Amino acid sequence: MKLQEICAKRIYKTPCPKCGSWDIIPQTPIDVDIDVNDAKKALGQWAKAIKDGATPLKGPCFIMCRDCGFKAPSVDCSGRTSEEVGQDDAVFLEMKRLWIKAGE
Ligand SMILES: [Zn+2]
Repeated sequence: MKLQEICAKRIYKTPCPKCGSWDIIPQTPIDVDIDVNDAKKALGQWAKAIKDGATPLKGPCFIMCRDCGFKAPSVDCSGRTSEEVGQDDAVFLEMKRLWIKAGE
């Protein structure tokens, strides 16, 4: 088992219920128009968006599998900022709970 898999197992407890992958990442979408075709421009847009330290979230937060795109049920964080949610253990714990539940 690779180190990344060991870490993922410790954090997320269960692999992707669809494909069994441990390539799992939490998603907290921020409200910024990212140009996905231009990495340099996208980085600039992202940096500008988070500069104020209160980045509004674009949508709900969820944990997803990077291999097959499977998404666990999302946690509604509307009206909150990326920074606030990033520091809120309760949001991450709920995302994790939903991920584990999705795998049952
Ligand atoms: Zn998967």
